Amino acid sequence: MIDIFPVRAFKDNYIWIVHNQQSALIIDPGDAAPVLTWINQQKLQPVAILCTHHHHDHTGGIPALVQAFALPVYGPASEKIPGMTHPLVDGDILSFPELPLELSVLDIPGHTAGHIAYYGQNYLFCGDTLFACGCGRIFEGSAQQMFNSLQKLASLPDETRIYCAHEYTLANIRFARTIDTNNPDLIKLENAAEEKLKQNIPTLPSTLAVEKATNPFLRCDQPAVMHSASQYAGRHLDDPVSVFAAIRDWKNNF
Ligand code: ZN
Ligand code: FE
Repeated sequence: MIDIFPVRAFKDNYIWIVHNQQSALIIDPGDAAPVLTWINQQKLQPVAILCTHHHHDHTGGIPALVQAFALPVYGPASEKIPGMTHPLVDGDILSFPELPLELSVLDIPGHTAGHIAYYGQNYLFCGDTLFACGCGRIFEGSAQQMFNSLQKLASLPDETRIYCAHEYTLANIRFARTIDTNNPDLIKLENAAEEKLKQNIPTLPSTLAVEKATNPFLRCDQPAVMHSASQYAGRHLDDPVSVFAAIRDWKNNF
């Protein structure tokens, strides 16, 4: 049986640990210390590090973890990842004898130029690309690229569980509510997220079904979202990519 545990790091990062009783994969370790603490408590043997992109809050803990365990490091071939031993490209498939899980690599550029996701058995580890009710900032790509990457993720099965790398859900919902004003699913989602956070429980994972119903960045073809984006832009926007670009820009200044 596979389990996923959220190790918290910094202000709002999650370092996801995919594990069974013995072995663990470490995804996006921005910091080594909380990972080491948890893994030692649980008496788990780490097997590999998987990275989605090069940002320091996802890679900063790699050197210390590699020093402690001599781990293979998987990451995007086109980015500089410290200690990378296994550069990956779209379509690559990863498996580990210690864990019953096969993951395939999806290219999802936009937040960074080489950003990848890991997907398998309804688990999606998507770093800073798709967030619960939001998406990452476009640092190294175009709006068109980011839009395409999000659409690629949206084409996965509805049951897909979304393990993104930050607890941004509540702020994202508040932004979504100003755009997609009469969406009843957003109000329910806001209540549920507030309740979880009050109890110090992560709002993640989300599911693709929930994201399709609530995430404005996946709803750029919906009349309410198009209308709000057009108002923000001050002109009529009718194609989803322009709507996406407008609301991404709006969120940057929200
Ligand atoms: Zn990032
Ligand atoms: Fe990040």
